[in-house]
Amino acid sequence: MRFMPPSFPVSFPVSPPGTIPILIAPNPILKAKAKPVAKADDGAVRELAAKMLASMYLAPGIGLAAPQVGQSLRLIVIDLMPDNKPAPITLINPEILSLAEELATREEGCLSLPGQYAEVTRPARCKVRYLDLTGARHEIEADGLLNACLQHEIDHLDGVLFVDRLSALKRNIIMRRLAKEQRQKREDDRRR
Ligand SMILES: [Zn+2]
Repeated sequence: MRFMPPSFPVSFPVSPPGTIPILIAPNPILKAKAKPVAKADDGAVRELAAKMLASMYLAPGIGLAAPQVGQSLRLIVIDLMPDNKPAPITLINPEILSLAEELATREEGCLSLPGQYAEVTRPARCKVRYLDLTGARHEIEADGLLNACLQHEIDHLDGVLFVDRLSALKRNIIMRRLAKEQRQKREDDRRR
């Protein structure tokens, strides 16, 4: 998830070491329901989470789900950088236990829809259960930015993008604009 436009355009022809390229919508992996992680306390899972965090910081973003880097697994990383200091959370097999009836609207963006932002309305609070990288179980209750971020990232695990929470009209406008901008970017990259 991304909230603020980057201050300068970043473009890497190849991914820097330790990062994974982020898929851009539309892509069938982004629309698929991801599979649970079989074993949380596992070297491959730890390695994937570390690469996802590196890719997220580079982008830059505040949340990233494994399907966005081509891995159809129920794994997300989040870092809201409180006080501008890194505070990463890795959530394995996250499950929403409850959602508030009250709604809240916030501007959202997504690393898989670069440059696109829209106001999204979601339940104002959520309670989520997940496993950490040691396999320990946690529960968190969130409101505000963390709430929106958790729901946005867990949506990714079910093949749902923030534009799917908008009207068909708004979604079509954004998807067309994204396709046009991506086409333009590819042409610009070719000319370089
Ligand atoms: Zn996203």
